Amino acid sequence: MTDLNCDTLVIGAGPGGYVAAIRAGQLGLDTIIVESENVGGTCLNIGCIPSKALIHAGDVFHEAEIASAGSAIGVKAGKPKLTWKKTLAWKDGIVRRLTGGVAGLLKKAKVRTVKGWASFIDGKTVEVTNGKDKQIIRAKNIVIATGSSSVELPNLPFKKNVISSTEALSLKSIPNNLVVVGAGYIGLELGIAFRKLGANVTIVEAASKILPQYDKDLTKPIHNRLGELGIELRLNALAETVSEEDDGGLVIKNQDGSKETLQAERVLVTVGRRPVTENWGRENLVLNMDGPFIQIDEFCQTSMSGIYAIGDVTGEPMLAHRAMAQGELVAECIAGKKRAWDKRGIAAICFTDPELVSVGLSPDEAKQSEYDSKTAMFPFGANGRAMTMERDDGFVRIVYRSDNHLILGIQAVGAGVSELAASFGLAIEMGACLEDVAHTIHAHPSLGEVFQETALRGLGQALHI
Ligand code: FAD
Ligand code: NAD
Repeated sequence: MTDLNCDTLVIGAGPGGYVAAIRAGQLGLDTIIVESENVGGTCLNIGCIPSKALIHAGDVFHEAEIASAGSAIGVKAGKPKLTWKKTLAWKDGIVRRLTGGVAGLLKKAKVRTVKGWASFIDGKTVEVTNGKDKQIIRAKNIVIATGSSSVELPNLPFKKNVISSTEALSLKSIPNNLVVVGAGYIGLELGIAFRKLGANVTIVEAASKILPQYDKDLTKPIHNRLGELGIELRLNALAETVSEEDDGGLVIKNQDGSKETLQAERVLVTVGRRPVTENWGRENLVLNMDGPFIQIDEFCQTSMSGIYAIGDVTGEPMLAHRAMAQGELVAECIAGKKRAWDKRGIAAICFTDPELVSVGLSPDEAKQSEYDSKTAMFPFGANGRAMTMERDDGFVRIVYRSDNHLILGIQAVGAGVSELAASFGLAIEMGACLEDVAHTIHAHPSLGEVFQETALRGLGQALHI
């Protein structure tokens, strides 16, 4: 095959890589993107999008089941039936539409897409293998956007009934008994979805609480909801291995050292993700690392000139919108625009039931900062819109500087709070003070009013509590 030359070569077409390539193309840079699987990466194919589709399907089915039992709001319906094959086809259709859309956007930006596995020969040359064919690509600038993959526990490798999130998103049937290892983002999102779709779900977590990175106030409504949904939670328990005897049940070790075998048709292991830093010729480069991640500066530049890195391969938080923001930035930096990473916060959303959002500093992090800080909280229980949605558990919390009321962090837990993440992010990015949020008219009735009331409460002026 003839060698290819370009200005900018992007390796990996996940949300980081495809955004970098589209923006580079828009800026007139001759760009090639290499992807070994489907464009869209983890996020569109086996992550954010298919998981949110199954979460939605679970919600719809669960609501229908409640209605069949006769709901509190006077809706009575017949017994719902799940046609799982159709659910999967619907989910796959969304993935196809979005990945097809990305392929179209790359084309529109005049980006050439090469299918295959890229491996560095040196800092300016990459070899792409696709079956028997090999192609050499030379580029002035190379963006590494190789993403991350599921962590495998040494005694619990992904095989037979032990699966990762990828297999969980395309199971042929809903398992009778699903044991989820890890009560983090993925374990909770998928565990709750499968429970609502009819599986008996047990979640095993090594730490003493779910979502260990968030404080107890924030996770309590989710913890309580797990109980209401009939999900069994085993905290302070380590997943060890699958039993050979008990039909592949999961052996767990409790804090007191005792061992138990949990019945499991499937064991879904969700204990984190690790950056993809091997098997692409890193040994032929001299890249400084930051722990397991590739070290980058505020321009997404690695320790080698002309080589950049973005997305999950560069560190936490491993979130699609961080990867996309870096993708846009890196293309502009390569094109010679004056850009640098100076974000004040990256919102994180857990699409659990109820949902959780966090942006900026938590109360504990603020205490460790140089500023004297306070927190204000307002519950959804005092919000009309939340009541009409039949879900008034949870709250919004603002962390702010005591002296000038500058907002340092915002957290929320409650049904539908994912959609508040944008206004929380905007407030942090714009350097808003309590007064800015308190004096912005928030439409009524809406969940956003709770954000305004939280700010008012911080000022000692709450109206509806
Ligand atoms: P990736 O999306 O991982 O893409 C990397 C791409 O590079 C892959 O397509 C891979 O095939 C390709 N590649 C790697 N090496 C090579 C090579 N040498 N040659 C060619 N191609 C290569 N994040 C959120 O923000 N919100 C969510 O709701 C959310 N939900 C998630 C749910 C699940 C189940 C999972 C697993 C993840 C979820 N995430 C979510 C995380 C999100 O998917 C990642 O943060 C995001 O995809 C990272 O983007 P990326 O471009 O860095 O890498
Ligand atoms: P995670 O880090 O969120 O949670 C892993 C959990 O597994 C932790 O609570 C940990 O204590 C537990 N654990 C580890 N080893 C264990 C063992 N042997 N036995 C029992 N428990 C054990 O990891 P994840 O859920 O796999 O998610 C990975 C990443 O994917 C997230 O950090 C996030 O960046 C991304 N993601 C984001 C979203 C979102 O934005 N909504 C959704 C899914 C995934």
